[in-house]
Amino acid sequence: METTLDINITRVESSKLNDLSLENIPFGKYFSNHMLEADYENGEWKNVEIKPYQPLIFEPTLAALHYGQSIFEGIKAYKDADGEAYIFRPYDNFVRFNISAERLCMPTVPEEIFMDGMKQLIALDKNWIPFRENHSLYIRPLMFATDTLLGVRPSDTYKFMVMLSPSGPYYTTPMKIAVESKYTRAVKGGVGFSKNAGNYANSMLAAKEAKEKGYDQVLWTDGFEHKWLQEVGMMNIMFIIDGVAVTPDISEGTVLNGVTRNSIIVMLQEMGFTVEQRKISIDEVVAAYKNGTLQEVFGCGTAATIAPIAELGYEDVRMPFDVDSFKTAIALRKHFDDIRYSRVPDTHGWMVKI
Ligand SMILES: *Cc1c(COP(=O)(O)O)cnc(C)c1O
Repeated sequence: METTLDINITRVESSKLNDLSLENIPFGKYFSNHMLEADYENGEWKNVEIKPYQPLIFEPTLAALHYGQSIFEGIKAYKDADGEAYIFRPYDNFVRFNISAERLCMPTVPEEIFMDGMKQLIALDKNWIPFRENHSLYIRPLMFATDTLLGVRPSDTYKFMVMLSPSGPYYTTPMKIAVESKYTRAVKGGVGFSKNAGNYANSMLAAKEAKEKGYDQVLWTDGFEHKWLQEVGMMNIMFIIDGVAVTPDISEGTVLNGVTRNSIIVMLQEMGFTVEQRKISIDEVVAAYKNGTLQEVFGCGTAATIAPIAELGYEDVRMPFDVDSFKTAIALRKHFDDIRYSRVPDTHGWMVKI
């Protein structure tokens, strides 16, 4: 592996893998032997190191905890049948991470720290990548404010970290989704396009209330009319209506620019689909359901991959689907898995070898 970054590496004395099997593991519960850390101080990034995964010690005044300057990413690494390790489109996550950083007045992370740091960490913990269908190594980059003063202003100091979690599937059964018409996730001019901690804190009450009604998650709508569809929890949303793929456009900054969304748009176009990125209202979806042209609904995101939706609920309308008939989602999922597990050639340059 070619890297330029000089990282101080402290290895674990004995691997935690000796006591853990990577078969049938849940999502995001176990962490590999090592983590990456870097500090931002006096206008520069320093102290880039890889060390044993361990607790952090901070004062209770840590700025990130009070005022929410905290951003993250989610990326996956896979192993092929020959044991070679690959990361799926990490450069796209690197770019998005820095877009999130700028929106929250945080410093950007240099490409060599983000990319080389992540690659070196994964190379060190390569045998933590599960080799099993629906399993992968989930990579979690994180940056948060570390000043310890109680004034509301951008912090002067930050910590950047990467941790690795060998993971199984995020959702194991098709999801039931409630269209949200009370709470709002994102508005134009807000922070919806950034992967920042506050967006998820803000989303939890809506998800909790939806769960009380028998749903798994909500499909967010715009904050003014609660009519225009945005996205689901940690996933973008895709509809197949009368043979055309339709997904909400991201131009207003109220929908996360998903790497999976983008990959799926490319794959759908290669499959011959017209893909429309545009405003789509819940009324259009209900009308298409009622006239029989709404063929498939699925979510797409790194954690959940391609998640068929078994039911959409909007006010008193319940729209169940037969997910076994979702030909497009099933074909996409197979093709996507074939790419990520290197069973077909990577014609897009999406797989970055470790
Ligand atoms: C991470 C995330 C997605 C999916 O983005 P990917 O790049 O495909 O993982 C979609 N919506 C939200 C709100 C997210 O946080």
